[in-house]
Amino acid sequence: MSSTKGNALCFRCDSCGAEIDLREPVNLCPRCGGLLEVQYDLNGLKRSAHLFREYVRGPIWYYRDFFPKVSDQNIVSLGEGGTPLVKSKYLGPTLGIENLYFKNDTLMPTGSFKDRGYSLAVSYAMDIGVKRGITYSSGNAGASFAAYSARAGFPGVVMVEYQASPMKKTMIMLYGANTAVLDFDNFAQIETMLDKAVTDLGCYVFVNFINPIRHEAMKTYAYEIFSELGRVPDFSFHPMGTGGGVWGTWKGYNELAAMGVTDKVPHMVPVQPEAVCWLKRAVDSGAEVAEMYGDSTRTIAQSISGNSPLQGGRRLIRAVRESGGAAMAVSDDEILAAMVDLGHEGIGAEPSSASTVAAFKQAVKAGKISSFDTVVCVITGTAFKQPSVVEHIAALPKYTIRADVDQLKGLLVRLKLL
Ligand SMILES: [Zn+2]
Repeated sequence: MSSTKGNALCFRCDSCGAEIDLREPVNLCPRCGGLLEVQYDLNGLKRSAHLFREYVRGPIWYYRDFFPKVSDQNIVSLGEGGTPLVKSKYLGPTLGIENLYFKNDTLMPTGSFKDRGYSLAVSYAMDIGVKRGITYSSGNAGASFAAYSARAGFPGVVMVEYQASPMKKTMIMLYGANTAVLDFDNFAQIETMLDKAVTDLGCYVFVNFINPIRHEAMKTYAYEIFSELGRVPDFSFHPMGTGGGVWGTWKGYNELAAMGVTDKVPHMVPVQPEAVCWLKRAVDSGAEVAEMYGDSTRTIAQSISGNSPLQGGRRLIRAVRESGGAAMAVSDDEILAAMVDLGHEGIGAEPSSASTVAAFKQAVKAGKISSFDTVVCVITGTAFKQPSVVEHIAALPKYTIRADVDQLKGLLVRLKLL
């Protein structure tokens, strides 16, 4: 007995192939504990392929035919998605890459790309009758869950990493969520706790991949970028924590190809801090399964500092290999320089987001990108989320003047602007 949800047919387990009804409030596969993936009717999706002919700048729900169906009354939207694709004016041309773009998700309702996933996941949970939920977060996802669950009147608990910036913690509190600071030694402990929350406590969990809906919304990166560019980029750079953004975007590009909307897909390039680059180690060594690596306290890129892959990182290894991409690692110094580069382009990014630009620069210097390539760096979160790092790289103003026109004149002369 199964029921479809629009063009979505069922959940299918990555590991054992079990198919599960979309109305079941499941997280992991009830049979084997594997990750679940939403399956779609390709012919149904094709009927909505006309949506990609133009870019309609609006919430992700413009692409709702490509999600598991949610009734109108259960949609919780704060205007997430439809962010601008900003062409680089300085960095790209300086490095000989004319077609470098920044997908600017710093403009999302809570200041990060997590709003795409939580809009869909909270709406979907309401639609299938889930009564409460929990999530764990390095900060941005917690703020997003807090905002969307507040808006929906959906009760939940946010566990936020102890090393999250005070701003991220207080944003979660501002939205009124039940919040606990989460203390731990490594990310594997968190995964074990979440697995047991599902199996032993019957909790509904909103963490990427353990929740099989959230990354579906990340397909909208592919849809929006394709629709605005009129083609797929050659390279798609993403900051990577658990990898929901990378996997969802990859799924979106594959759907576009399966529908015949495009005949090529981009090379996927997930980026991690050097301190915890478990995906790069796995991909470069030819491994099928990634292993825990590094110390998550040894990087400023706090949103992507997870040192333990969820279920071996198999999906991410697959996305990189199948796309002919690469897993990259960047240092904190490279990230800080990239934040300054983005600032000059008019984009204030948190350190994790600037990792994509740092990796892009590395790739250009290594000769991996040609002048004919189109490159998109996804910028996932605003600089406001980690003010201490911004204060570290951007000095306070050099000049102080009195409110006096002669002093203003003196300043303008000094700056050679008068
Ligand atoms: Zn299974």
